[in-house]
Amino acid sequence: MNQELTTLIDLQGFDSRIATLETEAARLPKQIEAIQASLAEAKKTVDAFKTKIDQTRKDLRSKEKDLEVHALKRSKEEARLYEVKTNKEYSAVLLEIEEIKQIKAKTEEEILALMEMQERLAVDVKEAEARLKTREEQAKQDEGVVRGKLAKVEQELAGVRSDRLVRAKELPASLLASYERIMKARGGTAVASVGGASICGGCRMSIRPQALLELRNATDLMTCESCGRYLYWQETPQ
Ligand SMILES: [Zn+2]
Repeated sequence: MNQELTTLIDLQGFDSRIATLETEAARLPKQIEAIQASLAEAKKTVDAFKTKIDQTRKDLRSKEKDLEVHALKRSKEEARLYEVKTNKEYSAVLLEIEEIKQIKAKTEEEILALMEMQERLAVDVKEAEARLKTREEQAKQDEGVVRGKLAKVEQELAGVRSDRLVRAKELPASLLASYERIMKARGGTAVASVGGASICGGCRMSIRPQALLELRNATDLMTCESCGRYLYWQETPQ
């Protein structure tokens, strides 16, 4: 086979591999981001429960203070019962005391509800924390695997790029430029095989019998008449 053609085939092999590796190198960091985002979401859930617990605790404290205020108010009103002069005033104070009692009962109910909520939230936060812990361990493992893959991809990419550079130097500058131009224009493939089906492996167009004959015996470089890719003969079907 023509020496330049062999080099072109090799170059195409390197470039295809580089394209695959570059796609991987771009995809893997996104995987890491997704792992971290999912972990952040689990942390947020725990934080939300904790904030709710804090709020409930504050509400509880404030309601308990209210109870003290009510008790104080009530004892003041009860003391007034001995001071009032008229029945009307007496009834008014009694009414006042009755109201305070009702408010107290309502506050006590609210306190009970808050305490129940606090208990439920304590369970919720414990469960969320356990889930987070499991997730953190899983995420650490997953991220390690992905980082390992990424390191391998980057290492191979550096190797293939340097091999390609060496091989590319074997081609005349004009041929290399032509190869690179076709590659850019033709979706990353500048060299295509032709096999038993007598079609261009790049564009699937038929190769004329005369051209096929030339290709099989070729000593010169040949290009596909419809897509312009460099062609080489390959006995095995594509
Ligand atoms: Zn073609």
